[in-house]
Amino acid sequence: SIRISRLEKRFGAVSAVDGVDIDIAAGEFIALLGPSGSGKTTILMSVAGFEFPTSGSIHVDSEDVTYVPSNRRNLGMVFQNYTLFPHMSILDNVAFPLKMRGLRAAERHARAEAALATVRLAGYGHRRPNELSGGQQQRVALARAIVYQPRVLLMDEPLSALDKNLREDMQLEIKRLHAELGITVIFVTHDQSEALTMADRIAVLKDGKIQQIGPARQLYERPTNLFTAGFIGEMN
Ligand code: ATP
Repeated sequence: SIRISRLEKRFGAVSAVDGVDIDIAAGEFIALLGPSGSGKTTILMSVAGFEFPTSGSIHVDSEDVTYVPSNRRNLGMVFQNYTLFPHMSILDNVAFPLKMRGLRAAERHARAEAALATVRLAGYGHRRPNELSGGQQQRVALARAIVYQPRVLLMDEPLSALDKNLREDMQLEIKRLHAELGITVIFVTHDQSEALTMADRIAVLKDGKIQQIGPARQLYERPTNLFTAGFIGEMN
């Protein structure tokens, strides 16, 4: 489980995150939803250990990780610009995080093959990134994120660069992976329908504050404030 308590992050005069509390159960899929500048990425970066908060804390399984650097947290990450290394094979791209962790070549390759099979790309390991479609490259990025079997997967607008059809395929793919691996997912998006289709629970953010948090269906059917009602209502 992940506990975000009284999280605050200021950049000079800007209050990017302003007192956010979220408890996330192990295996839960939660979406951080809000307009541009509402603080979603900053919250995710704090959970990732790429940003340290101004105040507040982050606990993972009761351990205080607030100031633990990213490489010492057991997290998988997929960002919008999921750049693969163009000169490396797909297999080496996926195995890269294992190399960083000092695993031997045979073990790295076995695990990378398994991760590729999980995203339905078995047999693609010898190719280069530019020999794959955008959606396949996105799946490689997912394989790379899960290759060391993290307990938590963090995703920041991972699908926004894809066209509509691919995006819908990938939404299903990510949901399938979530169910299959039992992994905890925090998913950042500004897309209301994406959050509603994918997440168990949604936190709606505005100006660094949570406007409403609850099961996707509840937000849709019973928004408790005008911002949530308006923002969810913009969906078509
Ligand atoms: P988007 O959907 O556009 O990515 P977001 O909801 O993820 O937006 P954040 O990126 O978390 O929002 O930004 C929240 C606020 O903090 C914004 O006003 C942003 O300009 C500011 N901010 C974020 N990172 C920095 C930084 N490194 N330096 C200064 N200000 C920052």
